[in-house]
Amino acid sequence: MYQSSYLNKLFEDVKKKYSSEPEFISAVEEFFDSMDYMVDDEPNIEKYAILERILIPERVISFRVAWVDDKGKVQVNKGWRVQFNSAIGPYKGGIRFDSSVNLSILKFLAFEQTFKNSLTGLPLGGGKGGADFTPRGRSDEEIMRFCQAYVSELFRHIGPDTDVPAGDFGVGAREIGYMYGMYKKLSNDFVGTFTGKGISYGGSLGRKEATGYGLLYFVSEMLKTFHNDTLKGKRVIISGSGKVGKHAAVKAHALGAKVVAMSDINGFVYDENGLDVPLIDKLSEPKGEYSLEYMKIYPEAKFVPTPKLMWGMPCDIALPCATQNEIDLEDAKKLKANGCYMLVEGANMPTAVEAIRFCNENGILFAPGKASNAGGVAVSGLEMSQNAMHLSWTYEEVDQKLEQIMKNIFRKCHETAQKYGQPKNLALGANIAGFIKVYDAMLQEGVI
Ligand code: GLU
Repeated sequence: MYQSSYLNKLFEDVKKKYSSEPEFISAVEEFFDSMDYMVDDEPNIEKYAILERILIPERVISFRVAWVDDKGKVQVNKGWRVQFNSAIGPYKGGIRFDSSVNLSILKFLAFEQTFKNSLTGLPLGGGKGGADFTPRGRSDEEIMRFCQAYVSELFRHIGPDTDVPAGDFGVGAREIGYMYGMYKKLSNDFVGTFTGKGISYGGSLGRKEATGYGLLYFVSEMLKTFHNDTLKGKRVIISGSGKVGKHAAVKAHALGAKVVAMSDINGFVYDENGLDVPLIDKLSEPKGEYSLEYMKIYPEAKFVPTPKLMWGMPCDIALPCATQNEIDLEDAKKLKANGCYMLVEGANMPTAVEAIRFCNENGILFAPGKASNAGGVAVSGLEMSQNAMHLSWTYEEVDQKLEQIMKNIFRKCHETAQKYGQPKNLALGANIAGFIKVYDAMLQEGVI
């Protein structure tokens, strides 16, 4: 129950209307927890139906993706692009390829992306896309054919000032390359439009590391502000075998932290003295998996074949970097019992709403992905700027800008949380600060 009767009514409506979209409902619930602190003091929100409008994507494109596999069999997948909100800039957000992808997941991701992109301070609206296709186990040729088929529909809906897709789960440099190649051929334009591109054809230095490195810049700000401390010697645990977790580990290690546990799809590895992060970085290169190989080289480390059990290991800082809903209430309780005092999201919504509430009530400092993992999309924004100016910045320039953006995001979240009398509630700060810019633009742009 919210304090605001307006929010209660809206949330009842959301639950009824979108009963088959549990991930979207969770994202709205988490957002409304914060809106409850301000909505009744801002009569224009209800008067101009800002929340009613913000909850409905401006456009959802749903399409068939037909392609031929290596055996000559015709395969058919479902593809989507959710163009959620363009109040402050062109739609911007990644593309996810995984058998679990559905409209509910893409709507929750695009909804979150709207506020995340707003927090970066760059002119980026919110969007997300994907398909129920898993690249894992597919040949390179199959992946190329799939990407080409996906873009042969998507290309007509995107553009450098309309909608700029990027990578997400299941979509890395290889997939972006195949999609951008086909996009360029069909549109007969070389104007960017995708981010996360290879460096040889318009990509930005520092983009592939950006989400993970940005996450650690954010963690450093949290430690400095709330504990007058640094990462030196802190025990960190990190989930996920994708780009985010790996680069987060590399940066944590570089900043002096002890990365004691990391998980991939096969399980997790643990070493109380700290894992060999440069080795994990190397082993994870082709496929993201490393744990089994790691155990061959360090048989004295501990290996547990269930990734989720990692949340029961002792640590100071937990960085969930895999996917949504990895940490439930029980996991949050285990983290607390084992000494964890900071939970900072590298993935999008890896923490269930009840677990977030538990953190806030039990002294675990929590930071939501829409703030702490915004480094990826922020450098995507920098890639768009470089493309528009037809020039490239050095790695150092991009990294410096990334660090500054992450510091600014932290400051905005913290100041907003302080303004509402909840200085440690960064979720509140992120939601309200992200929302205010979108709200302000929607008010000025009229009822559309
Ligand atoms: N998928 C990433 C995210 O969740 C990056 C999006 C982008 O670069 O557009 O923020």
